Amino acid sequence: MPIAFTGSTCARRGCSRPDWKDGLCSRCWRLAAFFGKDPGLFAYEPLNGYADGRDAVALPWERLERELLDGG
Ligand SMILES: [Zn+2]
Repeated sequence: MPIAFTGSTCARRGCSRPDWKDGLCSRCWRLAAFFGKDPGLFAYEPLNGYADGRDAVALPWERLERELLDGG
């Protein structure tokens, strides 16, 4: 049986990084902090946006990660 990470993982949908703080991985937590959002709520921002785009604004995760977290 291979060694596997068995602890919590990031609560953000589609993110498989280890849980770092408040249920989010370090990257997602930093994005949450940047937006001034509650990490616990931020975790549930869908990775690929909502099915109905009118319900909420989807965050441009890939661009944000590149711009804000490059080198982090
Ligand atoms: Zn994450």
